[in-house]
Formats: sequence, structure tokens, C-alpha cells
Amino acid sequence: MSEKEMQALPEAANFIEQIINEDIAAGKLRPEQVQTRFPPEPNGYLHIGHAKSMFVNFGTALKYGGKCNLFFDDTNPSKEKTEFVDAIRADIHWLGYEWARECYASDFFDTIYEYAVRLIKEGKAFVCDLSAEEIKNTRGTLTEPGTESPYRGRSPEENLRLFEEMRAGKYKDGEKCLRAKIDMASPNVNMRDPVIYRILHATHHRTGDKWCIYPMYDFAHPICDFLQGVTHSLCTLEFEDHRPLYDWVGITLGFDPKPRQIEFARLNITNTVMSKRYLKKLVEDGKVRGWDDPRMPTLSGLRNRGIPAAAVRDFCSRIGVAKAQSECEYSYFEACVREYLNAHAARAMAVLDPVKVTLTDYEGEELLDFDVNPTDESAGRRTVKFGKHLYIDGADFSLDPPPKYFRLKPDGYVRLKNAYIIHCDEVVRDAEGKVEEVRCSYVPESHSGHDTSGIKVKGVIQWVNADCCADAEVRRYESLLRDADYPGQDFSERMNPNSEKIFSAKAEPALAEAAEGEAFQLLRTGYFKKCTEGGKLVLSEIVSLKDNFNKPRS
Ligand code: ATP
Ligand code: MG
Repeated sequence: MSEKEMQALPEAANFIEQIINEDIAAGKLRPEQVQTRFPPEPNGYLHIGHAKSMFVNFGTALKYGGKCNLFFDDTNPSKEKTEFVDAIRADIHWLGYEWARECYASDFFDTIYEYAVRLIKEGKAFVCDLSAEEIKNTRGTLTEPGTESPYRGRSPEENLRLFEEMRAGKYKDGEKCLRAKIDMASPNVNMRDPVIYRILHATHHRTGDKWCIYPMYDFAHPICDFLQGVTHSLCTLEFEDHRPLYDWVGITLGFDPKPRQIEFARLNITNTVMSKRYLKKLVEDGKVRGWDDPRMPTLSGLRNRGIPAAAVRDFCSRIGVAKAQSECEYSYFEACVREYLNAHAARAMAVLDPVKVTLTDYEGEELLDFDVNPTDESAGRRTVKFGKHLYIDGADFSLDPPPKYFRLKPDGYVRLKNAYIIHCDEVVRDAEGKVEEVRCSYVPESHSGHDTSGIKVKGVIQWVNADCCADAEVRRYESLLRDADYPGQDFSERMNPNSEKIFSAKAEPALAEAAEGEAFQLLRTGYFKKCTEGGKLVLSEIVSLKDNFNKPRS
């Protein structure tokens, strides 16, 4: 590679790109030949951890002008479904990635079988009659070598015949398997004659009943990578111990160029469980409304929650790619979402706990001017109708205020956002003492923007016009799991009973007319997604306005 080409190489943002740059510099490949794959198993929905894997796989290929395939790892027919394949495709598109080629491990079953036959012929694989249990018991430990299988000495001819019989369906599940003949004394347990094919009489979602033997992940993966032309096979750290086997398969079968496996740390987020098995259980036990429940860490959940794909990508880019395991605070993810929405979401007003306010001395109505988004001048201005009958939020009124209470209280002043300063003259209560109406007078000279009243108020609160507002169901969320009270606690004991709270709110009419799915900042409340359910306006929380991470939990 010339000096000039070297200089044109993208600067490595992480250790993976550093390795790729070294490979390019060593003349092993050209930048545009970089090829990766995103390899989900279609046995569930993608979650935010997968977003990191996609960021690494698609992002790296994009950076070098190379390619990233979508590779479905479907070697486990009993758990895989077409429903999941479709959902995975939709989630990848939502996140904003395009794959070069879509392929499946099952596309390569014939070739994988041929490779297994080759290993047998070369005396590098044998059919073993030990049960899974016996294989496990003879594998040895980290400190002791394993014991060789009594079937290890079978001739290639006998192995070939038995393997063909396995394929033809002559044996029951688990009765036999094919094992690579490597080294039962290897310090790496994965190298102790690993099983590479198993018998499984199960209908596959793509190949139907064509096969009753299936290759194991560790055998299928290096072969599929090679057949696709993958140059760098990027995976998570738990596969590090499998790399010697990955390399053994590639070297023994003479792959050239041999794909290179590089491992990086998984994304872990506090109070967030990503394992598909656990998420599936939440869905099946009815703890959530489905895989796309807005409290779920699935990509479909995040999408349904109203979290912008750009914020998820931004998060992945900020947390970086490293080799060391770590745990990211959930609040950091929220901060990325908040930052994006602060810059992009229009502002609106709603009150979650409506309290009636009457301005006894105000007559008529007027249109008040608001920024659509004060951080973005180009978003423009909008008007909101002001009038005599209003609602404010119950949280902004106190009959018995603590010291330094700057919102509305008996005989106190407060400013209504972009409107006037009002004074609380009288509180009407029902028989139980509940506040029915707060009667106020307004200060005509205090109009926002040209206030000449001289009255100093510290509190500014949002309001809605009672004569034209819309009823809205507001849904607020907390995490599905509470902090662990003691280590080793089961997830079911950590379920947060208050993970969803519903409010009968009043919202300004513009929200009812807004586009479905649009995100808003409800002033002083949070970011919400507008939707309509059965004709009803629903405002569903995307993220709170403030980081309440450090707040004590109630
Ligand atoms: P789970 O354990 O949640 O079921 P998985 O690893 O079985 O996940 P796959 O469908 O096999 O899920 O994953 C596809 C790819 O996504 C794999 O390369 C896997 O390493 C990667 N991946 C899964 N979870 C994470 C995570 N939390 N962070 C980064 N990458 C992940
Ligand atoms: Mg997996």
C-alpha cells in the first residue's frame, strides 16, 4: 500500500478499526473489501444490545466503504420462526441500516455438510455414540484433560457410512453426533473434540424436513463467514474462547482468505435485562403488552415508545467499542434521547392533574405567541388561545405550601407561561375539602415580553385553555425492574409495580391535531409521543424532562 493510500485510511475510532487498518496496511485487503455481517438468531426480537452489534458491524463496513450482510443464524430449528425474521428485518431498517446481502446459515447447509464429509475423509472428524451427558462428563475440567471417546478410532469409511445414515434419519435425536477430532488434552475446553453436527428431528422454518442433522454454531459460523466473503467477523466477548475452534475450522478447511474473528464487549445497561429468554417470559407471562411494549428494551419497544432511531445510533457511537466489560447507566441512554428531542421536538402544554382556574376579571380571548422550539429558530412560532377559563396542574398549586414555594398558593402570585401574572384570590372546595376551582385575578400590565407591572414572581407554570382543550390519556413510565435489593435476586422479585402510570389529562388542542407518532416536549413535564387509540388522544412518555437518576426512589 502506498504512503498516500495509507494516509487516506480512516482514523481508527476503536481497537477493531485499528486491527482492520493494520490488515489493510499489511496488504491483506483493500478498504472497500472490508466485509462484516450482523448475525442474529431468529428466535426473538432484537434489543438495544443488538443495536450496538449493528452499530459495530454496519458502521465499520460503512466507514471503509465495504459491505455488511444480514446473516440469520438459523441452525437451531426448534426455536426459530419466520415471525422473528420479519421483525428483525423491520428493526434493522428502522435503525437506519441497509444490508448488502441477506442470507441464512440454512442457505449453506449443503456446503456445510460437504465440508463435514471432507473432515471425515481426512480423518479429522468422527461419529460418536456417546450421549450429550457422557460427552459432558468426559470433557475434563479447566485443570484436567478430557478422556478420548471410545469411538474416536473409527475408520473414515465407517464414519462416512454412519454420518450418511445420520443424515438419512436412521437414528434418533442424540443417539449419535459428529465430533471434530482435535485434542482432548487441549487447555481450551472448546477444542476437546467438539460436537459439530447433531441429530434433531425438527421442522426447520426454511428447509422444512429436508434435514434431520444440523451443524453446531461453532462449525457453521466460520464456514458461513468464509462463503459470504466476510473478512472480519465481529462478535461479543463470550466467543473469545471459541476463536481457536473458529480458526481451526478455517485453517483445516484451507479457507483463503480466512475470515478473522474479533470480539468486543457486550452492551450492558443498569436495570435492563436484554436476554431474549427473559424478554420472552415477560411477554408470555403478560407482564407487558407485547414485545413492543414501550417499557421493553427491544428495538420495537423503543420505536413504539417514540425514541428516535438517530438517538439510539448516537448513544451507540458515544459509548464506544471496547474489549473490557462494563455497564452503562440507563440514565446515559436517556440523556442521549433527551438531547436529541430537545433539539427536534416541538413544545406544547398539557396538565396531568387538571385544576380549574377562573380569571374573574379577564374577559374575551387572545392569541399568544410561542416558540415551536426555542432551541431552533427555524422551527418558527405558533399561537395558543388564552381565555378566562383555564386548567393548571395540581402539582403547581398548594393550599399548604412549604417555604420557598414559588408556584400558585392562596394569596400568591405566579406567571402563566407566555401570558400574565395571576393572583390567587379565592379557593373553592367541595364537601371533602378537595379543590374545585381556584379564582384568580390577572395583572393586565404583566403580559410576557412587555411586563411593566413591577411584580416579581419566581414561578412560571404551564396552562391549558379549558374552553378548547382536549382530553388526553397520559402514560408515564418507570423502568420495569427496580434496583436489586440483594444480589442474586430473581428478576420476578424486582418487577416494578409502578412501571406504568396513567393520568386523565387536559392538553392544548394542537396536540389532538398533530401527526400520529409525533414527539412533543410537554412543557415542564417531559417528552411524549402523540397517538390516537380508539378515537382517544394518548400522550405516551418517551423520556422525562430531567434526569431523575439521582433522586431517591419512592
Ligand atoms: P441474547 O443473549 O439476548 O439472546 P444473543 O447473543 O443470543 O442475544 P443473537 O441473535 O445471537 O442474540 O445476536 C446477534 C448478534 O448480536 C451477536 O453477534 C451477538 O453477539 C450480538 N449481541 C447480542 N446481545 C448483545 C449486546 N448486549 N451487546 C452487543 N452485542 C450483542
Ligand atoms: Mg445467540
